[in-house]
Amino acid sequence: MLEAIGRITILLVLAFAVLIALALIVCAFALHTKKIILPNFLLFVTSVLYEPLRRLLPFFHVDPTLIDRVSIEIRNSLNYTEFSATKMEERVLLLPQCIRSTECPAKLSPLDGIHCMECGKCVIVELSAVCKELGIRMYISPGGTFTGRILMHSRPKAVVGVACYPNLHDGMLNAKLMGVPAQGVPLTTPGCVNTTVDCEEVITRCKLLQISK
Ligand code: SF4
Repeated sequence: MLEAIGRITILLVLAFAVLIALALIVCAFALHTKKIILPNFLLFVTSVLYEPLRRLLPFFHVDPTLIDRVSIEIRNSLNYTEFSATKMEERVLLLPQCIRSTECPAKLSPLDGIHCMECGKCVIVELSAVCKELGIRMYISPGGTFTGRILMHSRPKAVVGVACYPNLHDGMLNAKLMGVPAQGVPLTTPGCVNTTVDCEEVITRCKLLQISK
């Protein structure tokens, strides 16, 4: 009996190790070639083994955010067709409040977040101008639960979200549960204040329909 349990344990450990090794190889391939193979398998493995993979990667001198980067790329890729089929006016761009200037004069509305006053002290003014030109609604969320409130209020058919990796991970999952295809753009400098984002990347995601046609 004990021998059987021992064998089963060894088999499970081996299967676990093979799964992790396979996931790491597919992740590395995806990042290296920009091609995602077995996206659903990879998304499943990176979701289920998120914590073990993040803890394991530093032992191989690999940045643990590799898992986040790959899983966001996969979600973006899986949502692409549905997202790009929506009209511009059906989309919203959701920004985190941490990319605002620390001298931001904008006021918070309990209904739909922070209203930018276009003072020009942060990149939001540029993103706001592009959104107005495209007809996309832009919202600045002061925090996690508020994001859900904004989505309930704006009822978009597609969303582009900007956030740090953990918030983006949760946000894209929630959007999926709400049936809203999302495109995620991670912050280039995370933190609580003075964070940064690649604006070109945000604009490219917002314009996906125009690029694909
Ligand atoms: S541009 Fe808008 S969000 Fe940025 S600091 Fe000025 S008012 Fe605040």
